[in-house]
Amino acid sequence: MQTINTTDTICALSTAPGIGAIALIRLSGPQSISILQEVFSRKVEDAMSHKALHGWIEKEGNKLDEVVVTIFRAPHSFTGEDTVEIACHGSIFIQQTIIQLLLAHGATMAQPGEFTMRAYLNGRMDLSQAEAVGDLIASESAAAHKQALHQMRGGFSKEINELRDRLIHFASMIELELDFAEEDVEFANREQLNALLVEILKVVDHLRESFSLGNALRNGVPVAILGAPNAGKSTLLNALLNEERAIVSDIAGTTRDTIEDHITLDGIRFNFVDTAGIRQTNDTIEMLGIKRTFAKAKSASIILLMFDAMTTSALVLQRMKEEVLREAGPGKHIILLANKVDIAGYDQNAFEENFGTEENLLAISAKNKMQIEELKKMLTSAVNIGRINSGETIVTNVRHYDALVKASLSLTDILLGIKHGVSSDLLAVDIRKTLYHLGEITGEINADDLLNNIFSKFCIGK
Ligand code: GDP
Repeated sequence: MQTINTTDTICALSTAPGIGAIALIRLSGPQSISILQEVFSRKVEDAMSHKALHGWIEKEGNKLDEVVVTIFRAPHSFTGEDTVEIACHGSIFIQQTIIQLLLAHGATMAQPGEFTMRAYLNGRMDLSQAEAVGDLIASESAAAHKQALHQMRGGFSKEINELRDRLIHFASMIELELDFAEEDVEFANREQLNALLVEILKVVDHLRESFSLGNALRNGVPVAILGAPNAGKSTLLNALLNEERAIVSDIAGTTRDTIEDHITLDGIRFNFVDTAGIRQTNDTIEMLGIKRTFAKAKSASIILLMFDAMTTSALVLQRMKEEVLREAGPGKHIILLANKVDIAGYDQNAFEENFGTEENLLAISAKNKMQIEELKKMLTSAVNIGRINSGETIVTNVRHYDALVKASLSLTDILLGIKHGVSSDLLAVDIRKTLYHLGEITGEINADDLLNNIFSKFCIGK
């Protein structure tokens, strides 16, 4: 999308490409209704808005397809423009012929995301809401869907705009001081400004932190299953996925590569990766697998560290934990899984004596699916689901996250500046920066580049 032009009438297939029972073709722009009239069997000039009309699409006087057409008159449409939706039969031939007919009568092909961009340009939604439309289309889990809906209704922007408004007030006071530079007056009370900045920083940082959860909602929570060879990692993955997905074998070291799959619990997607076992090895293929294991552990949010309850000593477990912490990096949620407690001879008292002091420890039998439900509960509570259900704002978008990080840095700069008594002009620069970054989120700064960048990520017809 090079330039933003909203005077032409765009059209595109809005349903997924391919054959379906029904396809939806959408037109938006000033000529939508007149172009429809050229190809539709019924008079539509005075047709009511939001009412379905049954009729035929005709080409050179011949009936092409029986369709249902809905007209949405401006400004009461998704884009804010006159819009027409044609529900036709799903054959690719029909879809293409109708689109070609519309193009022949003056419509142009829509660019990716152009319908949503027009909605934004016509004030139907702000930027973060427009982006949420994209998220909604892409959302795979119930939680991601709920979050996208919340953002689309404006939950996110409201919070940011309130912060921004309060800061704008101070910005104008500081700018006023610049006009009176000679007199050395202070219109903006530094103490009050400081208090406001601390408050804003707290909210910005809170939103910023919510991103790891937001990211999990969008893409799933990465979970790595680690442990010595034969601890039962593949068996556990099978038990969780409820199918024979990973290869289970008695020969230690058989899961040489990583195997990935996902399950959805409480509307949250968990992406599992079963990995090669951790142990010293001279086998080159297995060594590669172990390296990959640690790479996966680094990118995981949750680590299931599995060990054989019958053969592992507290000391060995301690060493494994230390190794995982060292290799996987900080901030991981680690769950210890003592496996194979079904084996005859397992002594619960001895086990508790050995491992009783460990936190986040669960004794399971992957083979007999014992305590798998309990493990699922531990997984969902490791993700802060309460935060989602309370309707709190969660940042799910990388662009928003970037803007929040930058806002946080410039807020910290202002606070430092005030502390060191820097001049108003320097403060003004950092305040402008903060306002800019907060504005980036809701689209107060609407450089064409920024817009094109966002909307081009949509697919055509959205
Ligand atoms: P991995 O190398 O860690 O992936 O281990 P596997 O899942 O391949 O299991 C190794 C062996 O341990 C297989 O023979 C499994 O059947 C067995 N095993 C796994 N989990 C259990 C369990 O809970 N109880 C018992 N008795 N055997 C298990």
